[in-house]
Amino acid sequence: MADAVATGMTPATSPRLPDAVFKELEIVRDPTNLFHQTIEQVLMASQIVGLRHHQQIILAQPANEIMVHFPVLMDDGHHDLFKGYRVQHNNALGPYKGGIRYHPDVQLDDIKALAVLMTMKCSLVRVPFGGSKGGVKCDPRTLSNNELMRVTRRFVSAISNQIGPDYDIPAPDVGTNARIMAWFADTYAQMQPERDRQDTLRIVTGKPVEWGGSQGREKATGQGLVYILKEMLPDMGIDISRMTFSLIGFGNVGSWTGRLLAALGAKMLAVADHTGAIHNDGGIDPELLAEHVIEAGGVNDFTEAEAVTTEQFYGIPVDVFIPAALEQMITEDKARLINAKVFAEGANAPSTPGGDAILTQRGVEILPAILCNAGGVTVSYFEWVQNKSSVYWTAEEVDERLNTHMVQAARRAKAARKKYDVDMRTASFCAALEQIGDVYNLRGVFP
Ligand code: GLU
Repeated sequence: MADAVATGMTPATSPRLPDAVFKELEIVRDPTNLFHQTIEQVLMASQIVGLRHHQQIILAQPANEIMVHFPVLMDDGHHDLFKGYRVQHNNALGPYKGGIRYHPDVQLDDIKALAVLMTMKCSLVRVPFGGSKGGVKCDPRTLSNNELMRVTRRFVSAISNQIGPDYDIPAPDVGTNARIMAWFADTYAQMQPERDRQDTLRIVTGKPVEWGGSQGREKATGQGLVYILKEMLPDMGIDISRMTFSLIGFGNVGSWTGRLLAALGAKMLAVADHTGAIHNDGGIDPELLAEHVIEAGGVNDFTEAEAVTTEQFYGIPVDVFIPAALEQMITEDKARLINAKVFAEGANAPSTPGGDAILTQRGVEILPAILCNAGGVTVSYFEWVQNKSSVYWTAEEVDERLNTHMVQAARRAKAARKKYDVDMRTASFCAALEQIGDVYNLRGVFP
């Protein structure tokens, strides 16, 4: 297998490791811990842009880590105890903002890492929010609709004093959707005095369009990724209307990315998810696959493509490889197999540090998640603004504004890459941190 074609855009600088801050904060570094990895990236970029010591230590830990346990009545009459989290990392730029995930593997340090990434993402795309993240440790695939509703309502009641429409605003993430956000908003509203209820829609974003949601929010993460590719691929000599791509994950982000890219003429050659992997050199129709996934629960057994092994899937030559599932899936062995020019991160932190290093060594251009998947939170911001003003925008207006935020974020990251001579991931963190540093310099630290 030929090595990935170098795009000539992979840089040089390997910044000094931020050991001093880890030591000062008594964080015993575990290289497999996603929170430690994320903080290391933030601190390395902080040192490049010259953030001051107090700014570095503020960003190296979340402001608040909330953990709750709550009982839920199950359909068979017994009660289960659930564990939920809300981590509020930083609110220097505005209210805490970030999704809520329902997944069996939810655990505190991963939520902390994802909250940090939200702070970075919001700053990079210049939406006036800070970063947070939450989750409930559960398997939504095995819960009935009523159980899912009761889990949601009990979780909201458990954290309702710690969130607020101008303080911390949740949204969908892995395993949650618009329906769950509607239960979320309804429960929060019921907990407020009657006269204040109408102003509580803004407590959560990603709601159904019929009840306070924004046009374009459902596809927003995929749409944002496509806008980033449109802006970045010409620099790499790739024509989006003729490119080929593979996807891991065909949930909200993966399926929308697939559909929107196919609509531009790009060809989806392979898709993998938790049920298997499929390939068709003539291209897979994302609309048909989306219908199949709704019925069958995954890509397996899709008749318009052939089933392939995981190894075969990763080795399929494509222009752009898009991980759009969970964190840390691209380990070193997988990174060695990937045969793509560009790795565009639809999922947060999709590769391990080892996987990342191998992709970089092999000349694969990495477009980092804080840039590629920031479309979701950008349209969440639009939804929040629309709820606040009670003026609602058309789908076209949303797309146009989203495009502006994404293109400007990409340009900001490119400028930082040039300025600091670093890779795109580091550059994206630098561009995000420059703004946070500027704001802290102006605001100072109370008292
Ligand atoms: N969960 C999404 C993310 O990771 C969206 C967050 C939001 O809209 O607040 O970016």
